[in-house]
Amino acid sequence: MSQRPSPPNAFDDAVQANATEQAGRPGFPLVQAWQGLDLAGIRRHLVAALRAAGIDEAEDDARFMIGHVLEPVSLAQALADAALWSWQDAARLADLAALRLRRVPLSQVLGSKPFWTLDLKVTGDVLTPRADTEALVEAVLGCCGNAPLHMLDLGTGSGAILAALLSERPAWTGQGIDLSPAALAVAQQNIDACALTPRAQLAQGRWGEALRDHSFDLVVSNPPYIVREVLAGLEPEVRDHEPALALDGGEDGLDAYRVIIADLPRLLRAGGWFALEIGYDQGAAVLALAEAAGLTALECRPDLAGLDRVVLGQALAANG
Ligand code: GLN
Repeated sequence: MSQRPSPPNAFDDAVQANATEQAGRPGFPLVQAWQGLDLAGIRRHLVAALRAAGIDEAEDDARFMIGHVLEPVSLAQALADAALWSWQDAARLADLAALRLRRVPLSQVLGSKPFWTLDLKVTGDVLTPRADTEALVEAVLGCCGNAPLHMLDLGTGSGAILAALLSERPAWTGQGIDLSPAALAVAQQNIDACALTPRAQLAQGRWGEALRDHSFDLVVSNPPYIVREVLAGLEPEVRDHEPALALDGGEDGLDAYRVIIADLPRLLRAGGWFALEIGYDQGAAVLALAEAAGLTALECRPDLAGLDRVVLGQALAANG
């Protein structure tokens, strides 16, 4: 097989020459459709196919997938010089595109997602970290200072919140709990990749069940909060490819908050903080649950769209 750089028409020849080997790959129909095209043509075809599959950010998604297979060559460089991409790049692109056309989330197709200052590994076993959740990170950083602190992340998933907070606060340590062993494996990889291994412990469990009384200065969580009936109407990326365990908040969306909030006075030390991500219309309900549990200093913080996204508060300080 010839090496890169390949002459422009080598793409067609290579597809023919490797057709048998390629035939079983998910992207093979696309690779065949791309014969006779240069990279600009492949890109146009891909954007049209993504749009036809109902994907709104078709241009962005195409750009990210092409960039991913070309790395470290940029799309602009490869468009300008056909010798900088090969039919193998196109075949890999076609495999990624085939997944995306089935509405697999871009984060799962690429295997990672930027969150806060980090680039986190993502699989179908974890909720893709969302920009909304950065509002929680920001709120916690704003109220908790720099002093040593031991934190708990309930339902840690990819480990996004835990990793972001520990990466900002070198004196902090933390524990991440998740019910899903597959999610914990992803979280561990993220913790390791962010060089936070000595300060973060992960364990399997159902919320705070197995944890000792008053052992945390801070408890955070982005629990499942989608109303069950609403789940079926979400876009296919979320509905079909993200874990229901991380999304399904039960009949009224508040199931997880009932369990977590009832346990906060036990888990937190006196005066300890908590921060919970919420759905945009759940502020009043979650504040009421927190108040009923005897938590104080309660407030709602918005996300970048100005919608309620975080409920913050504290455990009562010890008397006297
Ligand atoms: N914000 C997510 C969504 O709307 C839900 C996250 C969650 O349930 N914790 O898809």
